[in-house]
Amino acid sequence: MEKDKPLLSESTNEHVYHCAKCGLCLDACPVYKELLVESAGPRGKVQLARHIIEGNHDITKNMCDILFSQCLLCGSCVAVCPSGVKQTELYSGLRWRAAERHGIPFAKKLFFQVLSRKWVMSTSAWFGKWARKIFSGPWIESKIKAGNLPIDGVPPFNDKPFNDEFPEIIEAVGNKRARVLYFHGCATNYVFGDIGKSVVSVLTRMGVEVIIPKGQSCCGLPIFLSGDRKTAMRCIEDALTLFAREDCDAVIVDCATCGSALRKEYPHILKELHDLGEDISEKLITKAELLSSKIRDISEYIYEHRDWLPEMKDTDTRIRVTYHDPCHLVKGQEIELQPRELLKAIPGVDFVEMEAAGTCCGGGGEFQIEHGDTSALITNRKIKRIHDTGADVLATGCPGCNMTIGAHLDKKRGIKVLHPVQILKMALDGANLRTS
Ligand code: SF4
Ligand code: SF4
Repeated sequence: MEKDKPLLSESTNEHVYHCAKCGLCLDACPVYKELLVESAGPRGKVQLARHIIEGNHDITKNMCDILFSQCLLCGSCVAVCPSGVKQTELYSGLRWRAAERHGIPFAKKLFFQVLSRKWVMSTSAWFGKWARKIFSGPWIESKIKAGNLPIDGVPPFNDKPFNDEFPEIIEAVGNKRARVLYFHGCATNYVFGDIGKSVVSVLTRMGVEVIIPKGQSCCGLPIFLSGDRKTAMRCIEDALTLFAREDCDAVIVDCATCGSALRKEYPHILKELHDLGEDISEKLITKAELLSSKIRDISEYIYEHRDWLPEMKDTDTRIRVTYHDPCHLVKGQEIELQPRELLKAIPGVDFVEMEAAGTCCGGGGEFQIEHGDTSALITNRKIKRIHDTGADVLATGCPGCNMTIGAHLDKKRGIKVLHPVQILKMALDGANLRTS
């Protein structure tokens, strides 16, 4: 290791010296709670980071294993740390350096190249849709798992990318009260198109003009959290070009992960690269800060402007709804109350709180595929807690959690997994919540 070249920026490095080793983060960490070894816990990893940063230890393959296979980067440790240690900034920075040192597996590298180029992603999604239709089927899919993810639980691709379904500008219904940009992310564009349609429908009925810029690509978070900051820069620059605009009231995001990337991660990563002497301009950092200030999760935005919502019709049907907090929403953006209040205000919804709604679902993007055994332990706990509520619907604001939880729920119970904005749209439509 070159001792004269800093691994991470000074402001990131500093976190290792703030840790008081109190251990309060242990009980919050989903991985530690399952594996019960110090190296899996946030405290142990902070000490490990300290030794690496101080040059006492090299980033060995063993260290990489701990950094990647024993952490979901869920941020639960950051949320509870009384000393303000930002463990995830340390871990994601070290993952970057580890990837530089030991490389990224070929399949993953290829996947990131696909994700970061819109036209390649669209073409791959198109092939994926047809391959699944032609070569697969319920019997085959019920036998296959990717890590801990049952393939038959993965929703099909949209017939058409969401972005192709709408013009770039969608007028407000009635008097225009605001103008927003909508960052729909890959999940809505290729899989959860109905969530996107619900976002547009609810916002326009609130009197909001919605602009859906063409040419959007991935937010880049799965790429840079895996250590490939170079590839992720393409996504970051694309997003800043399209969305860092003064002429809008907000930039709406329906995905907890994208929201957390655009709001928190972009400014941090760009500043860190700049401080380390990489070719990152002050102008780009200013753009990231502008975008960060405009980001609103869809539940947050609707809640802030709930007076603009048209009246919801009561259809005399009742459904029991519970809510799972995505890590990137509750810990990443401190959004906890807003989706719950929106759900509780819907006529016909009986809201029931599950035990430990704010704990991770175990998905962690590709974590569930690469580290299926650990992921399964965490997911099983979450699924039991959802089943215990007797809910008809599990609401959540993250497509990743939606997919992970949806794939593991007991099919016989018929529990639907929906974004809060989908339930809101149904209520505005006067649809029967039970059968829609
Ligand atoms: S909660 Fe914070 S201060 Fe306490 S051990 Fe964990 S990282 Fe260190
Ligand atoms: S980010 Fe999550 S999984 Fe990783 S150490 Fe912190 S609490 Fe544990």
